[in-house]
Amino acid sequence: MPEPRLAVSAQGIHKSFGDIHVLRGVDLDVHDGEVVCLIGPSGSGKSTFLRCINHLETVDVGLLSVYGEPVGYREERGTLRELPNKEVCRRRSEIGMVFQRFNLFAHMTAVQNVAEAPVRVLHKSKEQAYQTARELLETVGLSDKADCYPSSLSGGQQQRVAIARALAMGPNLMLFDEPTSALDPELVGDVLAVMRDLAQSGMTMVVVTHEIGFAREVADRVAFMDGGIIAESGPTEQVLTNPSHARTRDFLSKVL
Ligand code: ADP
Ligand code: MG
Repeated sequence: MPEPRLAVSAQGIHKSFGDIHVLRGVDLDVHDGEVVCLIGPSGSGKSTFLRCINHLETVDVGLLSVYGEPVGYREERGTLRELPNKEVCRRRSEIGMVFQRFNLFAHMTAVQNVAEAPVRVLHKSKEQAYQTARELLETVGLSDKADCYPSSLSGGQQQRVAIARALAMGPNLMLFDEPTSALDPELVGDVLAVMRDLAQSGMTMVVVTHEIGFAREVADRVAFMDGGIIAESGPTEQVLTNPSHARTRDFLSKVL
């Protein structure tokens, strides 16, 4: 049997900001079609790691590749050369990212927010981009809000627009960085439901979350990050119910 394709391969990733050594040797593989939930205490480096995957930070040491292509570099006759900006943008457009704060364009309606990048970056026709945008808004349960501005939407609705906007670029991989932690509790469920549907549709996803219930239901694998490393990772049930590390147990006892 050939190895299933790796969506993300991280080996020994280190990243510092000045004197702060944030990532201290992160190892993690994500297979195509897999949903991995990344959990761990605040400050352990989860956001930094996601930002590295999405070309928003550069890695100091280690090998990070997405679908076989080294992040930030291209291989030329056996040596790695830094990617030109244009190529970074192209590769980044194949990865969808959803942040804690939704960052919608305030002066654009929901459907305009979703259609903007496909028109500008992918040079889709306006008709096609708007039609796709409306379909995506329907899949996130917002067909009736397509012409509303973000200010008139709830946080949960804005986050669902942000998910639709990321999906509009046709990504192979979706990264979520605590997508529900800025939401009022009663709005969390609708956003998680959209993410659950996306996972069931076969999307490859890396989700940083404190929603252990969601992880238990949706994740194929859970990785626990602590102090800049993946301290433990494995099948969801094993890590959540029977973790092998004391630090994982300790963390879970605080968030469950
Ligand atoms: P997490 O998402 O797990 O809470 P982060 O990746 O956001 O952790 O942050 C890990 C550490 O890196 C924190 O100490 C944070 O202050 C630091 N850090 C993150 N980004 C920067 C940056 N751009 N400059 C300096 N320090 C940063
Ligand atoms: Mg974070």
